[in-house]
Amino acid sequence: MNKIGLIFALILCSFYLQAQLPINNICLLNPVSGPKISPNDETDAKSMSQQKIVRVNFHFMLKSDGTGNFNEITDGDGRLKNGYLMAQEFINWINGFCNNNEALSIPIGNSIQVLNKNYKFILDAVYFDRDNNYYNYGGSPQSIYGKNTMNVMNIYMQHSLETPGGNASDISTNPGSKYTHIRSYWQGYVSQMATTNNYVDFQYAIAKTITHELTHLLTLSHTVLWNHGAKCPTNCENGYVSNSCDDGCADTPTAEEIMVANSCAKHPHCGFNQSEVLYCSNNLMDYNGGISLTPCQLNKIHSGLEGGLKTYLTCEAVKTDLTLTSVGFPNLSYFGKKITVNPSTPIELLTNNKTEMYFSESVDFSNFSVRFGSSLDVIYETPCNY
Ligand SMILES: [Zn+2]
Repeated sequence: MNKIGLIFALILCSFYLQAQLPINNICLLNPVSGPKISPNDETDAKSMSQQKIVRVNFHFMLKSDGTGNFNEITDGDGRLKNGYLMAQEFINWINGFCNNNEALSIPIGNSIQVLNKNYKFILDAVYFDRDNNYYNYGGSPQSIYGKNTMNVMNIYMQHSLETPGGNASDISTNPGSKYTHIRSYWQGYVSQMATTNNYVDFQYAIAKTITHELTHLLTLSHTVLWNHGAKCPTNCENGYVSNSCDDGCADTPTAEEIMVANSCAKHPHCGFNQSEVLYCSNNLMDYNGGISLTPCQLNKIHSGLEGGLKTYLTCEAVKTDLTLTSVGFPNLSYFGKKITVNPSTPIELLTNNKTEMYFSESVDFSNFSVRFGSSLDVIYETPCNY
């Protein structure tokens, strides 16, 4: 039996210039209404200064014959770029967006605080689901292929010939229904590689889409759009209903407020890559390429993660003992108070596997070896105290 020392892993984050690519997010969510929340409301999160790590699974949805997406070995297009690597690259991008915040661009001249976001994501596992029924965007694989749904948010990468986009399951604080569908990544990747042999900008743009959808799962609504994606109406057009299209945060301006400020010249939903245009929103929760989140929005995220969504946090996962009889793909991370690896017959962590074990008390190994070319990190994690 070995006790492994602590190795603190560095999560790499990348942050590149904004890609010049069209992104069309669609969210199948219901509009919200109700009283606005201010940053100093009684609903304030107690732990906004504490970094929270949310567990996610990636699912590459393949055709039944195993083609049409990234797989365990290749990119599905003849290159040795497998889905495990691709998923980790996405997480690195997403965490780059989480590690940065920017001043909200509207209303012009505002003094809204720019707080650290203090949340990020970790890759629990990567699955390759071979099923024609769920290959295409529009099919909802969660009931069949959702894994560990009370503790891990599931991301489905699906086929579509439309422009890239995605949707999120809900904005509640109820665990169990947290998933997002992302469309057209593999098709765009293949096209980018064929024309430029470079997929980085395209992946950056899709990573922003995933970040946006995951942030819906962390309870946020759009700020100047309905949650199904249409622009919030204003008095500048017909059909305006006061306060009918609002995200519930007092520090995110409504479309109506911005339209009044510019005499109906510019609706703040301007589309992707418009976030630096005057009167255009750069909020992460609108579709523009910006990553700004306000104190109220961060308050809602942290409140949700302290409450019903706590089950998705790594710090909660290290409160329960975990016994493993296998280690490695499709899993990349394990969490437990006391982690015990003790199979009845010896097992190995195979070459090219990268595994992290997060524990709060101990890690004990028997009948387990780590093969050359693989990687195992054992990391102490403090249990949630909120
Ligand atoms: Zn959305």
